[in-house]
Amino acid sequence: MIPTSFKYKRAGSIQEALTMMDEDSKILAGGHSLIPAMKLRLNQPEKLIDISKISAIKFIRQDGDNIVIGAGSTHYDIAHSDIVKNGNPMLSQGADMIGDRQVRNAGTLGGSLAHADPAADWPAMMIASNAIIKTQTARGTREIRAADFFTGFYETALHEQEIITEIHIPKLKANERSIYLKFPQPASRFAIVGCAVIASVSEGAISNARIAFNGVSEYAFRDTAVEQALERVLASEENITEAANRAAENMTILSDPFASEKYRKHLAKVYLKRALKEISK
Ligand code: FAD
Repeated sequence: MIPTSFKYKRAGSIQEALTMMDEDSKILAGGHSLIPAMKLRLNQPEKLIDISKISAIKFIRQDGDNIVIGAGSTHYDIAHSDIVKNGNPMLSQGADMIGDRQVRNAGTLGGSLAHADPAADWPAMMIASNAIIKTQTARGTREIRAADFFTGFYETALHEQEIITEIHIPKLKANERSIYLKFPQPASRFAIVGCAVIASVSEGAISNARIAFNGVSEYAFRDTAVEQALERVLASEENITEAANRAAENMTILSDPFASEKYRKHLAKVYLKRALKEISK
C-alpha cells in the first residue's frame, strides 16, 4: 500500500497547473480516488499537480437559470449550499450520501467526474440534470455535455492535460422535481445502484422525465426507453411499475461479489420505481 515515488507541485492557478502538466503528470484534487489508486499501484504518475488550493475553482453561484459549481467545490460544499438546495434539491441530497464525512470534506465534484467511477454518485445526477462540464487546456476552453462525458469504464471525453474548471447545471423549472436514490455498498457507500430522476409532474401525469443510472453498468447512462414509456402517462402504480420494469434494458449489467447481474438489474427497477413514486406524490 505504498505508491511509487513521485514529484509533487502545488499550482496557484489553473493557468499555472496547465504549464506544469506533461504526459507523466496527474492532477491532484481531493485525493480520495487518486491516492488509493496510487497506493494500489493502479496509477503511477511521476508528478502530481495539486490544484486543491486554487480558490478560483471553489465556488457555487447562480448565473441566470443556471447553478454554476467550481470543479474544486467539495461534496460537503454542495450538500450545504442554499443555491443548490433551492435550484435542484437532488444535488444536495445526493452529495450528502457520498462516502463519509471525511470523504465529503475532501472529495471534489471535478475529481469525481474526471475519475468516472461507475459507482460514483455524481455522473447520473449530472446526466439527468443536463449539466455542461467546462474544461481548460493550454489551447483554450471547451464545453462537454454530461450525457457525452462518460464514455466507458473509468473513461471520459477528457483529453490529456485537460482540466475541468466548472460545471453548469440548469435550475429546475417551475413544475419540475428531482430526486436521487441509491442502494449503497455498506462499507464505502459507493452506489451499487443509483438512480437520478428529473420530471415535470402536472395534474397527476409525468412528462419530460430525464432518468439516469450509475452503479448499474460500466458507466453512468441515460435511460431513454424508460423516459419514453413515462411520457404523459398518469403516475399510477401500474404505469410506474410498467415503466420501471424496463430499467436498464439492453445494457451490460455489472456483477461483483456484492451484487450479481440479476440482483443489480432488480435493484435498478426497485429504485427507479421508488424514485418515480416519490417524485409524483
Ligand atoms: P482525486 O482523487 O484528487 O482525483 C481523481 C481523478 O480525477 C484523478 O485522475 C485526477 O487526476 C483527476 N482530477 C481531479 N480533479 C480534476 C479536474 N478538476 N480536472 C481534471 N481531472 C481532475 N464517491 C461517490 O461518488 N460516492 C461514494 O459513496 C463514495 N464513497 C467513497 C468512500 C471512500 C472510503 C473513498 C476513499 C472514496 C469514496 N468516493 C465516493 C470517491 C470520492 O467521492 C472521491 O473524492 C472522488 O471520486 C474523487 O474526487 P477527488 O477530488 O478526491 O479527486
